[in-house]
Amino acid sequence: MNKKIKEKILKGVPASPGIAIGTPFNYVHETLNVSRETISDHEIEAEIIKYKAALEKTKTDIVEDKKNAAKRGGQEAAKIFDAHLLIIDDQVLIDETVYFISSHNVQASYAVSKIMKDYQMAFEKLQNQYFSQRAFDIEDVCRRIIKNMSSELDHVDLSTVLKGKQIVISNNIFPSDTLNFNKDLILGIVTESGGSTSHAAILSKSLEVPAVVGVSGITKYLNNISLMIVDGYTGKIIINPKPSTFESYKKRQHEEQKQVEEDLKYSKMPSVTLDNQKIKILSNIQSTLEIDSVIKWNSDGVGLFRTEFLFESSLSVLSEDDQFRIYDEVSEKLYPREVTIRLLDIGGDKLNDKMSLKEDNPFMGVRGMRLLFDHPQLLRSHLRAILRASGRNNISIIIPFVANLSEITKTKQLIERTKKELASEGRSFNNKIKIGIMVEIPSIVMISEAVAEKVDFFSIGTNDLTQYLLAADRGNERVSNIYDSFHPAVIKMLDITVRAAKKKHIGVGLCGQMAGYPIAIPLLIGLGLRELSVTPFLVPVVKKIIRRLDSRKCRILADKCLKVSTSRSVSSLLSDFFEKNIGENPLQ
Ligand code: PEP
Ligand code: MG
Repeated sequence: MNKKIKEKILKGVPASPGIAIGTPFNYVHETLNVSRETISDHEIEAEIIKYKAALEKTKTDIVEDKKNAAKRGGQEAAKIFDAHLLIIDDQVLIDETVYFISSHNVQASYAVSKIMKDYQMAFEKLQNQYFSQRAFDIEDVCRRIIKNMSSELDHVDLSTVLKGKQIVISNNIFPSDTLNFNKDLILGIVTESGGSTSHAAILSKSLEVPAVVGVSGITKYLNNISLMIVDGYTGKIIINPKPSTFESYKKRQHEEQKQVEEDLKYSKMPSVTLDNQKIKILSNIQSTLEIDSVIKWNSDGVGLFRTEFLFESSLSVLSEDDQFRIYDEVSEKLYPREVTIRLLDIGGDKLNDKMSLKEDNPFMGVRGMRLLFDHPQLLRSHLRAILRASGRNNISIIIPFVANLSEITKTKQLIERTKKELASEGRSFNNKIKIGIMVEIPSIVMISEAVAEKVDFFSIGTNDLTQYLLAADRGNERVSNIYDSFHPAVIKMLDITVRAAKKKHIGVGLCGQMAGYPIAIPLLIGLGLRELSVTPFLVPVVKKIIRRLDSRKCRILADKCLKVSTSRSVSSLLSDFFEKNIGENPLQ
């Protein structure tokens, strides 16, 4: 039924930023209902040969896709196909399929779909985002094997079916689909399933098209949509927008384009204050897909590489070599810019399912170094991979989530031991690699002078520092009014940390979200910070503000903020200063 419905808003998970306005294209995968046909005993052998030939062919196809993905999206996009190669090489799956063909006298395509479906259901039952993504991987491989045994299943060729540029809507996007996708063909991507770490999310980011995933119910409306809006910032999908909504999004889209042009202009200018203080603006990244953005926005390098996210999109824990290739790619592509790699910060709200961490209070539990010390093999391969990639001397290491000096000493000893191991194998690495820590647990701030004698730099993580200082969970909506990085206690912690670093002549930077809040920037400069690390696309915004600041005025502002006792007073001092010295809101 083609009934026009009124404006309707659906909510999903924002996967790739941007706004797309257009008509939908329903991207349907062929159903995998292969019918059961009985074969005679003497046909069994031929059916098994056909199955094995299809396995080989599929493997060759996947290797080819992997190469193309590596060319287009970097090592990480290619990793998705590694997971598929593991599935195709799984001897248990192969043996079970062969046994099913011969014991049930069925054709190979039926056996493949049956065995794979059983596995898929087992994964789906686990009801966890990571495993349901694996279920999709299995389905994708299964499709490819069956397709290679028959001519029935064929992929839709988007270049021939789309009516101009459209928004692709699908139940899910499989890795094998993505080579079919092209920025010149599609406006945006919306999927029913998938979370922020799904392949659809990873690949839409690499394509730089707006995307929202996990929009449950979207396919139900397909026949009734004449126009739709995809808001990749908030995860909103607006079906048949009313004229006022359409106009406001059109305006935002237009402003977005203008903003990009203006930002590009700013990104080419030097990052200095009016009184000639040079401020380094680095980027926070979590995958190789963001390397291009670091370069495009002319960032000084990577101030924080959140490595834990690499492990989310991969089927198995990444091997030393897998990791080496990723860190090496970042170091090489960004050279001579610096690249600060943070040791895996798993725990809290990150990757708990995968590490089977079941704790009542995970943010206070086995997180960061605590977890890595419990998994010596994982830590060893992680350190080996980072050190092996350090030969160009542009990599440094940040130790996350430390509360005590002893954790720093222990990590440094393990790094030294790893260096010796690599040296005895004749491998090259940077023997003088810089080692810093995340300052994100208040205890470290209180002993920061002593800590500064043991490390090369501090990287202040205001996201966690705020959470642990104010005893307010950073992800809990109900305490979001208490969780406030403008709390005077947070500002005092920043002041203590920066002073300790300067006194002991070590580096200090800030990589929490606060570094990207426009009104906070004058305060941070005033406190003495000269290195800020933000999401790549914010680099020009931060630069634009810095170029309008006088660091001496900022110091006076910081001193005022250090004297007040409420968040509200800090915010109002910052807003007044911003209005007087910067004027417009650079985000508008
Ligand atoms: C922080 O805590 O401020 C930080 C940068 O690290 P993450 O957000 O990854 O915990
Ligand atoms: Mg943190």
